[in-house]
Amino acid sequence: MVLTLCVLPFYVVSAQQIAIRAGHLVDPATGTFAENQIILIENQTITDVGSNLDIASVDEVIDLSESWVMPGLMDAHVHLTTNFPHDIGSGVSMASFYLTESNAYRVLRGVNNARDVLNVGFTTVKDVGNDGNYVAIDLGRAIERGWVEGPTVVATGKIIAAFGGQSSGISPDQSHVWEFEYIDADTPDEIRKAVRQNIYYGADAIKLVADNSAFYYTEEEIGAAVEEAGRAGLSVAVHVLGGEPARNVIMAGAHSVEHGFLLDDELLRLMQERGTFLVGTDFPLEHLQAMAMFIPDPEGLSRAIIDRLRRAHEIGVKMAFGTDVVIDLPSRNRGEMALDYLGVWQEAGVPASKTLQCMTTNAAELLRIQHERGAIASGQFADIVATTGNPLDDIQELRSIHFVMKEGRVIRSDTR
Ligand SMILES: [Zn+2]
Repeated sequence: MVLTLCVLPFYVVSAQQIAIRAGHLVDPATGTFAENQIILIENQTITDVGSNLDIASVDEVIDLSESWVMPGLMDAHVHLTTNFPHDIGSGVSMASFYLTESNAYRVLRGVNNARDVLNVGFTTVKDVGNDGNYVAIDLGRAIERGWVEGPTVVATGKIIAAFGGQSSGISPDQSHVWEFEYIDADTPDEIRKAVRQNIYYGADAIKLVADNSAFYYTEEEIGAAVEEAGRAGLSVAVHVLGGEPARNVIMAGAHSVEHGFLLDDELLRLMQERGTFLVGTDFPLEHLQAMAMFIPDPEGLSRAIIDRLRRAHEIGVKMAFGTDVVIDLPSRNRGEMALDYLGVWQEAGVPASKTLQCMTTNAAELLRIQHERGAIASGQFADIVATTGNPLDDIQELRSIHFVMKEGRVIRSDTR
């Protein structure tokens, strides 16, 4: 018997090197910029940044010498796989959506939304649940493997909530249908188990809803989630609007308050003291008007949101940009709608430099990825976007993003 050995040739593959000429390099952490910088990238990572780098031997030079170059944007509150139809009227239960859509359908929607948000410049998102049976985690894995295009996904898995999740009005004759989207957890021990379940299925962070019903989570219950998640190195985000439930969330040491539309100054000061992030999901009026099924008084809520954002900024609460787009507006995609929130931040008087910081540096800190994303510096992933004008002067310049790089790969490069 002849044994044939198949000898594979040995190739030495040199790293692909790219240099970006950045006309104005923005540092969101300090709100400053430097002129005529070069960013060196090897494969997925930034290897050097400076004004006098030798680029004679690089494989490719990308000329952004007329542009403003900055780290990719982050959205700390998305639901990539969820969407409600535009303008469907009031009295519709959330359950009616997730009962009629399969996991497969949900993840395909997620693929579509992931591509759209990346295309406008969001290179990282935090998906905070409502993803059926953990499909946002699978979507994130598919993006990581390069099967589909999208941002890095930090996913929380199923939302943990007190009995009923965010449903209402489900008949007692039905089984717990909301458990397709939520985990019922009504004691500290049940909360610990729910946290463990999410970690087991691949969650990168934990999300709770604290105040869906007249009953709401106690400080002890939130604290159980914080402690259990903390042991695994995960942060805890909590949906809460204000009042006593919000106090419980803040005092228990949760890492972020999601929404917080009804936070008064006292609670905002408490957040500032304790370093709790606000992910305000500061909806534009036009979006609220399209959500008649959930929002009875869009104008009133819009005023409250702007006022709360202004006060949070003035009190110095740590904030990360988060959107929460879950509806369709005619002829608009998820990425374009996410940028509509910039107008609300302007209206609330938040300076452009601070808004950009909330979309990069601060979001990276909340998502616990600041050592690898959120800055243009050696050792960071090459998640880079470019605008035509200065976003430190006018945050609406982010609508002019014409270049998007994700982990060293050019996703979009428009000629302008
Ligand atoms: Zn949400």
